[in-house]
Amino acid sequence: PEVITVQELANRMAERGGDVVKSLMRMGVMATITQSIDADTAELVVAEFGHKVKRVAESDVEIGLRGDEDEAEHLQPRPPVVTIMGHVDHGKTSLLDALRHTNVVSGEAGGITQHIGAYQVQVASGQRVTFIDTPGHAAFTEMRARGANTTDIVVLVVAANDGVMPQTVEAIRHARAAGVPIIVAINKIDLPDAKPERVRTELLQHEIVVEEMGGETLDVPVSAKTREGLDKLVETILLQAEVLDLKANPDRPAEGSVIEAKLERGRGSVATVLIQRGTVKVGDIFVAGGEWGRVRALLDDRGQNLKSAGPAQPVEVLGLNGTPLAGDDFVVVDSEGRAREITEFRTRKRREASHVATARGSLEQMFEKI
Ligand code: GDP
Ligand code: MG
Repeated sequence: PEVITVQELANRMAERGGDVVKSLMRMGVMATITQSIDADTAELVVAEFGHKVKRVAESDVEIGLRGDEDEAEHLQPRPPVVTIMGHVDHGKTSLLDALRHTNVVSGEAGGITQHIGAYQVQVASGQRVTFIDTPGHAAFTEMRARGANTTDIVVLVVAANDGVMPQTVEAIRHARAAGVPIIVAINKIDLPDAKPERVRTELLQHEIVVEEMGGETLDVPVSAKTREGLDKLVETILLQAEVLDLKANPDRPAEGSVIEAKLERGRGSVATVLIQRGTVKVGDIFVAGGEWGRVRALLDDRGQNLKSAGPAQPVEVLGLNGTPLAGDDFVVVDSEGRAREITEFRTRKRREASHVATARGSLEQMFEKI
């Protein structure tokens, strides 16, 4: 892939653009000053001019900054990360709310889901489950498109009085595409017209076969209203998590994904980050997408200050120099210099990518006119 324009390369070496073009020509590469060349070619040119090569790894951009896999002996069990999906009004918010023991639904303005980002619940056994509250399927897909595979388990909520609906099917598709196991929560079983059997039969058409019908998908009848079945649901999540054998190394610089981020009056840029491995501490220097910062404070979902946060823990991070995007990576680095270097590189790449897109767009328009 082309990473740098001839002009930019010349600027950075403090050489004349024309001389770089000539140097490229000698190597058999015909490029104008505005064209981009790949990293290997750029490196040859740099050597040709007798400069030192200082190359920020391409992998920083393509596959992210994330480090190598951890050795098995450093891995420790971690809580599962769960996303609740399903058709509108089937009770996603109510269920999340019931699991969290707070009341978000009644506080929703005009019925729109008030976004709480992510939170963790602790069950009697001391085990924990992390819930991500994605506001709709679009967020889930977008996060995945940005390379953030945050979810271990999808809880598919289907209202027992309404059955499988278009967004139920959509959610099944998303979970499949992500390769994430599904647990079916058949909700609203307190209603007189609840037909959990019908839900199970309808799911068959979408190749979801629950245990009762000889399949492997776990299903739990629940009521977010009466709280019936909620303990069983959490138990089932933990059971599924055990099968997945979820582990992470807590003793390394933190890596995670941005769940959401916004600029807040008086607080600056605030990001909700799901830590995926390692432990983040106050004072750590990090990169988040095209932004970087130094952790000024860490807060849990109840606004309590934390000194550190480990694997599968969602945490609000303060101390950003800008606002990253949902799905961006979050990686602790060893110095401010490194953080600047990476974010500058990424910002330049993004700018170039948008230039290319714009140029392509206008070219297509031109052809359309012809
Ligand atoms: P969402 O759109 O999937 O987030 O659905 P909500 O959580 O906003 O719920 C939609 C409606 O269903 C609300 O009026 C809830 O009070 C109601 N509801 C949710 N769960 C239950 C349940 O278990 N039983 C009954 N009877 N109503 C429920
Ligand atoms: Mg909702």
